[in-house]
This record gives sequence, structure tokens and C-alpha cells, in this order.
Amino acid sequence: MLINILGSAAGGGFPQWNCNCRNCRSLRDGTFKGRPRTQTQVAICQDNRTWFLLNASPDLRTQIEATPVLHPRNHGRNSPIGGVLLTSGDIDQVAGLLSLRELQPFPIYCTPSIRRILQEDNSMFAMLNRVPGQVSWTDISCDGRFCLQGERGVGIDCRVFSLGSRFPAYVSPDRSLALKQGDALLGVIASSSSGRRMAYMPAVPDADDSLLEQLEETDLLLFDGTFWSDDELIRMQGSGSTAGEMGHIPVSGADGSLRKLAGLRRPRKVFVHINNTNPMLDESGPEYAQVRAAGWEVAEDGWSLDL
Ligand SMILES: [Zn+2]
Repeated sequence: MLINILGSAAGGGFPQWNCNCRNCRSLRDGTFKGRPRTQTQVAICQDNRTWFLLNASPDLRTQIEATPVLHPRNHGRNSPIGGVLLTSGDIDQVAGLLSLRELQPFPIYCTPSIRRILQEDNSMFAMLNRVPGQVSWTDISCDGRFCLQGERGVGIDCRVFSLGSRFPAYVSPDRSLALKQGDALLGVIASSSSGRRMAYMPAVPDADDSLLEQLEETDLLLFDGTFWSDDELIRMQGSGSTAGEMGHIPVSGADGSLRKLAGLRRPRKVFVHINNTNPMLDESGPEYAQVRAAGWEVAEDGWSLDL
């Protein structure tokens, strides 16, 4: 299975348009040791033909153009993109669907609650169903298995499980209560034809023992690297939410992912969805050194992995 990391930043990207934090400022003035990043986006492929998008970032159009294997291959309108799997309804994970509205047929795999939010509550997404045979919506259980169906019966087996019960802030409290809570946020484990497994989870509120058990069965882990510390945004801005309140386990600290996942021996461990404020983006800093010494990698746009 081929895995292309098209984008690796959290919402807002790096640098973020309205941010002048140390990272963003030094990246703009050319003194930063590290790379700019677009918002997190991953594409996977089993058969060298059909690619599946894991979520649809707001940067999707430029990410596709920067990735030749995702370009059309035949005359006229066509695409090797064979479907989109949504792990949540966050704007950073679904806004890119609006960049795929040019009458291309493809399936969207998501939980029934996410489908209802997009289809019933947000009328712009009706542009995905402007003509018959355009986008097909495929409901998946928040705790089950399904196959991303490629050409000629070659698919990618996936298992998903619920990671959280909080719907995006744009979903009203009344609507949230009417939805199935477990549908809000998924983790995905995709299996290659050789039996190797990749876990994709750009948003993880907490890592309990049952999650750790599942991750020890994987060979590649693309994991939430949004914030270095729980109070990162508060210290940066003087107010705001903690990482925990935003549904992200921080990287550092007693309850952080470096420590909680330290016992995982099998998977290659890669942080994705890294916020522009996260000091581990700075490759000259102690946080980056600490992450690398702990065996983790910090994903960059354009990485191509083979599983
Ligand atoms: Zn910044």
C-alpha cells in the first residue's frame, strides 16, 4: 500500500494567515529551520491505480496538483481518486469536498451522523449531488469494517472505531444531541494486501489502554501531533482553549503521547496534523530533538511511504 502525505499541518496550515507566533514569523522571514506545511491530507493506494483520500482538506486542490499520481490520466474529465473517507465533520477534514464538485463520480465513506450534518444541514454540499451519478454517500458504522472499493475488485480493507463524541463547533447543541455520539470522530486502521496495517488518527482526545493495544498491532502510525503542550494556545494568545478541550492529546507532558505511546514497539510512529504553534516544527530546537530521540518522526508535505 502506498501512502502519500499531501499535507501535515493542523487547521490553518503553517504559516497560518493571521498568526505571527515565533514559528510563523521566522518561517516568513527566512530564518526558520523547518518546512512550511499545508493542512493535513493523506492519500492511500493499493493497486497503483486508484487512490483514496483520507478526509478532504481545505488545501486539497493545490495538494492534488502537487502530486502527479493524482492527476487525470486519460482524455477529458477523469481522476485516479476513487473515493474519500471522512473521519470527522471538522471543517479542516471536509471543506476540500467543495473542491471536488466538478461533476466527478466518487463515493464518500462516512458515519450516518457526519453524512446528515453535511447533506441535511449544510446546503453547499448539495453541489456534490447536482446531477445523477455524481457523489454517492456510503454509510459506515463507527465501529466496524468495510472496504474502500477500487477497480477490478481490488480494495483496501479498513477497520474504524470511535475516538470521540464531540461534533464540530458549527453543529448546534440540539443537533448534536440528536446524532449518534460515537459517530463524531473515528480512528482508521487500513490493511495492505500484504497484511501490514496503517493507523490514521489526526485527532485523538486520549490514548487509553484499548487504543494502545490496537496500535501495537499496526506497522505505521500517523498520529495526532497538533499541540506540544496542553496550554500551548493559552500561553501564545493569552486566552483560548487547552489542547484537551479541543480534543487533542498533547505531545509532551505526563499525559502526552510521547509518554503514553512510548511502549509501542511495532509501528513506525509519525506525527501529523501539527499546529503552527508547535515548537517541534523547529528542527533546531530541543522539542524536535526530543521527539526524534523518542523514535518519532514529524511528517512533512510530500512524503511518500510504502507499506
Ligand atoms: Zn503561528
